[in-house]
Amino acid sequence: MGVVGVCRLCAREEKLQESHILPDWLFALTRDERRRFISLSSLPRHRPRPMQRGWWEHLLCWDCEQLFSRWEGCAKQAVEVIVTADPGSGPVYAVPGVDQEALRYLAWSILWRVAVSRYATGWVVDLGKREDEVRKSLLSGELSPIERFPLLLMRLSGSQLARSTLVPPYRTKILGISGFMMQAYNLFWFCSTSPTRTAWLSDVSWVGGSDSLTVINFPTTEQEEYGWLREVIRRRGMDK
Ligand SMILES: [Zn+2]
Repeated sequence: MGVVGVCRLCAREEKLQESHILPDWLFALTRDERRRFISLSSLPRHRPRPMQRGWWEHLLCWDCEQLFSRWEGCAKQAVEVIVTADPGSGPVYAVPGVDQEALRYLAWSILWRVAVSRYATGWVVDLGKREDEVRKSLLSGELSPIERFPLLLMRLSGSQLARSTLVPPYRTKILGISGFMMQAYNLFWFCSTSPTRTAWLSDVSWVGGSDSLTVINFPTTEQEEYGWLREVIRRRGMDK
């Protein structure tokens, strides 16, 4: 009954909870009407396979688990608004009134969880020297300044496949900026790990950068989504 150990977030010795690495509601959102979902392992060279739902580990104490779930509750509400808003036909669309801090917290906490999980050696997420900075910031609830914890959101429209795709974080580059990308439902989440390059990219709106959330609108087709998934698999294979 219960495992006592050092909580990875607050570093206190406590009874550890069965902490989810990826929130369950992301899986629930991503499943299609036949309750299937497509997902890719982040393990290089592995073929796509169903991601295990309920992937958990003894990671956090009760207090830290509560901290994460408070932020996640707010982020979930925000995600529901973003994916149901009409994106229109422009390159970006604005979503007023959502909790942008919660979205950044969710994205960075997932990255951190994957990085510190015991699968860390097999998974692509490695925060390196920044791991402890991320931990302390998550613990304090202050992810600032934005350039150090940036998040970009892109919504794919036009592909049914994208709605049942869940891709855990993997390292990539966008416009020359290094970072990690994940996909859940029809949203791409990109966390930049290059603060200086993030700062000069002023024509893209980072989450939290203005009063109203800006989401990049990315029309796509089923074929393009398939192509992109193939590319992710191929690149992962070449990375190692
Ligand atoms: Zn703790």
